[in-house]
This record gives sequence, structure tokens and C-alpha cells, in this order.
Amino acid sequence: MKIGIIGLGLIGGSLGLDLKAQGQEILGVSRKVSTCHTAVERSVADRASTDLSILTEAEIVIICTPIAQIAPTLQQLVPYLHSEAIVTDVGSVKQHIVTTCSRLWSNFIGGHPMAGTAEQGINAAQTNLFKGAAYVFTPTEENASGIDQLKKIAESLGAKPYICSPQVHDRAVAWISHLPVMISASLISACLGETEPQVLELAQHLASSGFRDTSRVGAGNPELGTMMAQYNRKALLRSLQAYRQNLDTIISLIEQENWDNLEQILYLNQEARPKFLN
Ligand code: NAP
Repeated sequence: MKIGIIGLGLIGGSLGLDLKAQGQEILGVSRKVSTCHTAVERSVADRASTDLSILTEAEIVIICTPIAQIAPTLQQLVPYLHSEAIVTDVGSVKQHIVTTCSRLWSNFIGGHPMAGTAEQGINAAQTNLFKGAAYVFTPTEENASGIDQLKKIAESLGAKPYICSPQVHDRAVAWISHLPVMISASLISACLGETEPQVLELAQHLASSGFRDTSRVGAGNPELGTMMAQYNRKALLRSLQAYRQNLDTIISLIEQENWDNLEQILYLNQEARPKFLN
């Protein structure tokens, strides 16, 4: 199959590495000429160009640019597309993208592989990034026919496909992806706001797995974090406000020295986490 990938960074490059290794013909497009050269050198793509016309024969096109560039890229791509081509994206938010892109190409199906690292760019691309990860698709009634092919691609990467509406996707990822990014970023800046140099220096030496785990997602790609907030503003604010209420409850309990109720909350969460993650 001829598969086009636009935006040869962490996600686009990692898709290219795995799909090309399976024997698919990968046609890559990226913004920089140097990225296109690296993509061919690293076996991310068979051919790569900065020119979208390379994609005229692509049966499936996966748009992997930053969120803000997805719809404008599809708009530029439409004149080159084969009439039967299925277009999907990998953007971390879906409602805004699906609404805009479905108007531009009727066979557009939103997608979001739930995998990543804190790195970015073609040199961060890695094999097996999607193995064991969820891969969400948000088809509309009009374009449901292409979904089987996209599910097969997700499965070939070792990912587990999920189907839902763009709205449900955005609310769910607000909880488990976008809220953690904002909380983790706040944790880092609150800690670095310690005014006593000796305390801060010791905290740095003592920081171990707990701080590493909880601060990791707050130190990811800043452009991506900002776009999560910009394009999933409503759902993210809803989750942040619920989080703030929970934090306020904990602050009050500590102020009141209400250790029984605090322990009860921590106990309930200890029980709930493994069930939720299963
Ligand atoms: P990234 O590593 O920065 O890769 C994006 C690449 O797109 C850049 O390296 C850039 O390549 C290229 N690009 C930028 N503008 C372009 C344009 N107008 N036309 C063609 N190529 C362009 O970012 P990423 O982490 O892969 O994220 C890409 C998408 O994946 C985003 O929509 C994001 O929401 C989604 N996503 C990210 C993660 C994650 O954890 N990172 C997880 C799931 C989904 P050059 O400038 O080098 O050519």
C-alpha cells in the first residue's frame, strides 16, 4: 500500500519507521529539506519531499504536523489527492480538527495514537513506539467506510484501536493526558519557586523516582502542551476546575488537621487507581 505521511517528526517518523519495515511504500512530506533527507537515510520513508504533489498516488495519508497545521495542510493537500484516498491525522485533540477537516475532505477520519515521548523531531522517531498503546479513531457517519483499513494499520503497529466521537475523545484525554501535563508543569514551577537556595539544592539531590514520575509529562514539548489547552480549552478547564476542588479539599483537611478524612481520601484513591488503570 502507498501511505503518505506529512510531518516527519516524533510521531510521523515513528509511524514511517514501523510501516516501512512492514513493506508499505512510504511517501513522506515535511517542512524542511534536511528532515526529508534524514527520513530517507533513517528508513522512515522511501521517498520524501517538501512538496505535497509527491502524494498524488497515496491511498492513505496520515497528517502528523503540529495541531494548528493539520487543517491548513489538508487544505493545501486536497488538489493533489486521489479521489478514493483516506486521510487521517494524529492530533491530540479531535473535535476542532474533525469539524474543520471533514468539510475539506469527506473521507477524513480523525485519529490519535496514545503514545509519545518528551522528545521531538525526526531524530526522536523510534520503532515500536505504538506497541501496546491505544489508537483512537473518531469517524463520522458519512466516512465510516475507511475505518477498517485504519484499524488494520493501528493493529499492525501493535496498537489497540478504539472508536468514539470526537467530543468523547476530547473529554477523556482532558482527564488522562492534558490535565496531567498542566498539573505536572505546575509541580515543576512550584518546586523551583522555593526561595531558600539550600532547600532547593537539597531537594534537587533528593529528587528520585516519585518526582521523576510526577514531573515527566510537565517537561514535554511546550508547543504541544499549549495547543492541547488552546484546542481542548473547554474540556481541559472542566477537568482543571474539578482538580482544583479536590486540591482545595485536601488543603482544608490539612489545615483542620483532619487526618482521618485525609487518610480516607488517600485510602479510596489507593484502591481506585489499579482498577482504573486496568
Ligand atoms: P514533532 O516531533 O515536532 O513533529 C512534527 C513535525 O512536523 C516537525 O518535526 C516538522 O518537521 C513537521 N512540520 C511542522 N510544520 C509542518 C508543515 N506545515 N508541513 C509539513 N511538516 C511540518 O511533533 P510530534 O510530537 O510528532 O507531534 C505531531 C502531532 O502528533 C501533533 O499533532 C500532536 O498533537 C500529535 N501527537 C503527539 C504526541 C506526543 O506525545 N508527542 C502523541 C500523540 C499525538 P520539520 O520542520 O523538521 O520538517
